[in-house]
Amino acid sequence: MQLIDGKTTSLKIQSQIAEKVQQIQEQGYKTPHLAAVLVGSDGASQTYVNGKVKACERVGFKSTLIKLDETTSEEELLQTVSKLNQDVDIDGFIVQLPLPKHISEDKITDAIEPTKDVDGFHPTNVGKMVLGKPTFLSATPFGIVQLLAHYNIETSGKNCVIVGRSNIVGTPMSLLMSRNTQVGNCTVTLTHSRTKNLKEECLRADILIVALGKPEFITEDMVKDGAVVIDVGITRVPDETKKRGYALKGDVKFDEVAPKCSFITPVPGGVGPMTITSLLKNTLQAAEGKKV
Ligand code: NDP
Repeated sequence: MQLIDGKTTSLKIQSQIAEKVQQIQEQGYKTPHLAAVLVGSDGASQTYVNGKVKACERVGFKSTLIKLDETTSEEELLQTVSKLNQDVDIDGFIVQLPLPKHISEDKITDAIEPTKDVDGFHPTNVGKMVLGKPTFLSATPFGIVQLLAHYNIETSGKNCVIVGRSNIVGTPMSLLMSRNTQVGNCTVTLTHSRTKNLKEECLRADILIVALGKPEFITEDMVKDGAVVIDVGITRVPDETKKRGYALKGDVKFDEVAPKCSFITPVPGGVGPMTITSLLKNTLQAAEGKKV
C-alpha cells in the first residue's frame, strides 16, 4: 500500500506556481490576485478561507479577504460580487460555501463573472468542462486528477466508482474520470443515496472516490483488493483527547481499508491540500497574460 501524500504533492506544485509568479512579475505582467468572500463565522469555513489566503501568500499572489456578517442580505452579497466582477485588479474570486440559509447559493454562483470563477462552479464553466473545452475545473475534482497524475496511477479502462453526486465533487469528478484525457478514460459509476447494493458497486471499483460526508462509512468489506481509494470526506468529530476538541475524519475507515489498497489518501493531508492548490492554479490561469 502506498500513501498518496496530498500535502507534499501540494507543496511541490505550489513551489512551481511561486516560480511562475516570479517569472511573470519579471516579465512585467501583473501579480495574480485572488479574493475570498466569507459570510458568517462558521468555524470550518473560516479555517478553509484562512488556508486559502495563507497559500496565496506562500506563492506570491495578492489576496483579499472580505468578511461579511451572518446577517448580510442576498442583495448586499450580490453587490459585493458585482464589485469584484468589475475590479480589474482582482483576477479571480470565490464565495465560500455554505452560505447562510437566507441566501441562494445558486443566485450568487450565477452572478460571478465566469472568467473570474476560479472555483469552477458557474454554469458556463461547468458546461465547458462537460464539453472538454478549456475552463476552470472545480477545485476538488481538479486536485484529485492532479494527485492521480502525480502518482502515475493508470486510469485508462479502469472501473471508477464515485460515492456522492454533489455539484462540487461527485458529479464533476464523474465527468473528469470519463473524459478522453490522460487522467480519464474510466468506465464510471456515479452512486448516491438511492443506489441499490452500494457495497457491490464499490467492490467493482479499481478506483473508488468517496465524497458523501459520513465519517468512516466505507469499510473493509466494500473495497476490492488492490483498489485505489480517494477519500474526499472531511468531518469534524467530537474528540476530548484533542486540544481543539474534535478530530477530522474521512469517509473511509482508514485503518482497516488501507492494507487492502494499492494507493490511498489519508484524512487530513490527502485531497484537502490539493483543493487549495487547484484554486491557486486556476487563479494563475485567470491572471496569465495580463499586463500591469
Ligand atoms: P453533499 O452533502 O453535497 O453530497 C453528499 C452526497 O453523498 C450526495 O450526493 C448524497 O446522495 C450522497 N450520499 C449521502 N448518503 C449516502 C449513502 N448512504 N450512500 C450513498 N450516497 C450517499 O456533500 P459534498 O459533496 O459537498 O461533500 C462530501 C464530503 O466531502 C464532505 O465531508 C465534505 O466536507 C467533503 N469535502 C471535502 C473537500 C476537500 O477539499 N477535501 C471539498 C469539498 C467537500 P443524494 O444526492 O442522493 O442525497
